[in-house]
Amino acid sequence: MTTLHTWVSVPKKSDFSIYNLPFGIFSVNDEAAKAGIAIGEQIVDLVAISELGLIEVGAAYFRQKTLNEFISLGKKITDKVRLDIQNLLVSENSPLKNHPEVFVLQKDAKMHLPVHVGDYTDFYSSIEHATNVGKMFRDPENALLSNWRHIPVGYHGRASSIVVSGTTIHRPMGQVKTNEMETPVFKASGNLDFELEMGFVVGKSTALGERVSTKDAAEHIFGLVLFNDWSARDIQKWEYVPLGPFLGKSFASSMSPWIVTLEALEPFKVQGPEQTPEVLSYLEYEGEKNYDIQLEVGMSSSTSEETTISKSNFKYMYWNMMQQLAHHTVNGCNINVGDVMASGTISGKDESSYGSLLEISWGGKKPFELKDGSIRTFIEDNDTITMRGFAEKEGKRVGFGEVTGTILPNK
Ligand code: MN
Repeated sequence: MTTLHTWVSVPKKSDFSIYNLPFGIFSVNDEAAKAGIAIGEQIVDLVAISELGLIEVGAAYFRQKTLNEFISLGKKITDKVRLDIQNLLVSENSPLKNHPEVFVLQKDAKMHLPVHVGDYTDFYSSIEHATNVGKMFRDPENALLSNWRHIPVGYHGRASSIVVSGTTIHRPMGQVKTNEMETPVFKASGNLDFELEMGFVVGKSTALGERVSTKDAAEHIFGLVLFNDWSARDIQKWEYVPLGPFLGKSFASSMSPWIVTLEALEPFKVQGPEQTPEVLSYLEYEGEKNYDIQLEVGMSSSTSEETTISKSNFKYMYWNMMQQLAHHTVNGCNINVGDVMASGTISGKDESSYGSLLEISWGGKKPFELKDGSIRTFIEDNDTITMRGFAEKEGKRVGFGEVTGTILPNK
């Protein structure tokens, strides 16, 4: 990686270094939402930059509630905008030095969901997570179902309830039936959980009937976000047979506001785990398709400051994003710009890297402590879950900021 120096002040451990420059949608006071790029503790206002004639894309593309239209311009253009901004932030003679009005402090801005999500798919691609769940819910000796190593298993989620980081969520109500009950009851979920995931945002649509190969898949991925797939385990357990997740998942999913482009993550590519048995030809891939992104989950409550309860890494994923996309489209299912495809819970091998409370508390059997000594197995009312992620190499950091959410009592 070549070393770049920006004249903008960027804190040393900032996720939003000159190497990152993620896209998001923000607003200030009661003004309309618009597109921006994060740098350090600031936002570069893309409407203002465009109006100054410093980039080739018209301001109308950035004066939008979402990035969909901008992303639809294609990577050649969107990546050039990012690199042009990078040059403007690096160049000693940058015209931006005379235009402080293009910079907005992040603390003065409200962030919005960056894309209109037409469709949302959730995969189940961590072998450690799938094995842990299989051990708990089925057979400890034969935890993985027979299809798991052949298919990137997934389900169609609910796009309407995807919310931006910071949105509070009411504890969902639903049907629950435990083994001890004769008949189901209607109640507030008692086993509310998070799932530590990353999601990718589709950057290029396909036509019905078209397939995307693992080789071309990167062309269809605009960038990545942190993703919390909130899960009501008790509702899920009763409803999921035989068609899979439904109301135990669809009440809310939270995503981080800044989309980190695939291009910014390029230096952090790593080899994925070996896949055995060999995958079918349409799932074969060449080169490094996993990404070394360090992840952590913090939990805080009305009485306890934040306690780190998990440290994981996106590189553990058994099935990579290119395989997920190839599989998703292999039947001819079309995809659209703004679609979100989430990884599935990202767990590592040991207990400190589990990506859900279901695993951390082993189905509620192993309570854990927050910093103030209070005990948890699942999420209680007024608890806050915050996920963070960043990649770092040779002192160069590309991060995602955070996705946070507080659970309020049921309505
Ligand atoms: Mn999930």
